[in-house]
Amino acid sequence: MTITSLSDKDRIFTNLYGFQGADLKSAQARGDWDNTADLMKGGEDAIIEVIKDSGLRGRGGAGFPTGMKWSFMPKAPTPGRPNFLVINADESEPGSCKDREILRHDPHKLIEGTLIAGFAMRARAGYIYVRGEYIVETEALRKAVAEAYAAGLLGKNAAGSGHHFDLLVHRGAGAYICGEETAMLESLEGKKGLPRLKPPFPAGAGLYGCPTTVNNVESIAVVPTILRRGAQWFKSFGREGNAGTKLFQISGHVVKPCVVEEALSIPFRELIDKHAGGIRGGWDNLLAVIPGGSSVPLVPAHEIIDAPMDFDGLKVLGSGLGTAAVIVMDKSTDIVRAISRISYFYKHESCGQCTPCREGTGWMWRTMERLREGDGDVGMIDRLYDVSKQIEGHTICALGDAAAWPIQGLIKHFRPELERRIAERGAIQEAAE
Ligand code: SF4
Repeated sequence: MTITSLSDKDRIFTNLYGFQGADLKSAQARGDWDNTADLMKGGEDAIIEVIKDSGLRGRGGAGFPTGMKWSFMPKAPTPGRPNFLVINADESEPGSCKDREILRHDPHKLIEGTLIAGFAMRARAGYIYVRGEYIVETEALRKAVAEAYAAGLLGKNAAGSGHHFDLLVHRGAGAYICGEETAMLESLEGKKGLPRLKPPFPAGAGLYGCPTTVNNVESIAVVPTILRRGAQWFKSFGREGNAGTKLFQISGHVVKPCVVEEALSIPFRELIDKHAGGIRGGWDNLLAVIPGGSSVPLVPAHEIIDAPMDFDGLKVLGSGLGTAAVIVMDKSTDIVRAISRISYFYKHESCGQCTPCREGTGWMWRTMERLREGDGDVGMIDRLYDVSKQIEGHTICALGDAAAWPIQGLIKHFRPELERRIAERGAIQEAAE
């Protein structure tokens, strides 16, 4: 299948860079809130079917089919246990910076999507949980929500749909772990953001013990356009199982770092050449890429250059699309130091509830720091790998995996570099004795 890159007429996010206003009037001029009630008149299940048919997979990292997730919600909420929709805008993964562009430049797309998704899931209210550091973004979002209320697009008979829907914006306090969906629910309830043991899953017992779905900002913001243009249109981008357009966030050693909307499955080289001006120093200077935010394993240059940038293509390479936060590293990078710095991040953000993560992330970071200096023996590399495997899959939430995977990727692809440092330091010490 040939993957064609996205043309301007097919962009969902037409104000990504803030060249136009974020206000309601400007959003309406771009097509937002255009006959929203018509999109809802087919009923809740019809909307869920379109989203299922579109092949939309969650844009927050896990890639779970969005329509299927919505279908887990009770169709007839019991009195006293309303359904809730929570939007995860706690964008904190190093490298990820796409949701902030929606929040500050295109908030009405998200608000309209929240109303429609909330309606489809029989939710009476929605919450948008915004990362604590996103102060300007939260202000822009709150302003847009107030505009929507004033225009009758939220609240009683929202947008003339006959559905009552309230929307609240909550700003977090800056903890990465609150991006984990159950920690987010705890935080919304006013408690410490500690991930919950699952099951029960949020669709059964979520916010205040009520059925809840947590969705990423981008996943919800694309919903109105999918309903307007149709599931087939959305499916026409990307490979089978990897449908649609995606916001890629390209950072690191490229000529022009950027956030850009593209068709999923676009080959890596095309993505970088078309939007980021190529690799700094040319393609021969590429060392490795972290394709989905800091938690996914790195991919060496020769493996990623022609790879399709989608969920399945990157899984085959032992990595993942994650949030599509593409971190490019050229040959000037101290790759061991880079991964060690990522290890420090996860050590710092561990909530400390479970032993493998609390103790293991610190141990891995300290070991990485020693390996950075070549201080150790070759057996240390194997011990580090073993410990990372003991952490992976043995914790309450995915932060343990997120801390283990970058290190596993480093050992898998750059073991000779680790061994070289150990040998070099050994030789210096020997010469000094
Ligand atoms: Fe907390 Fe880490 Fe356990 Fe997640 S894996 S619950 S962050 S200690």
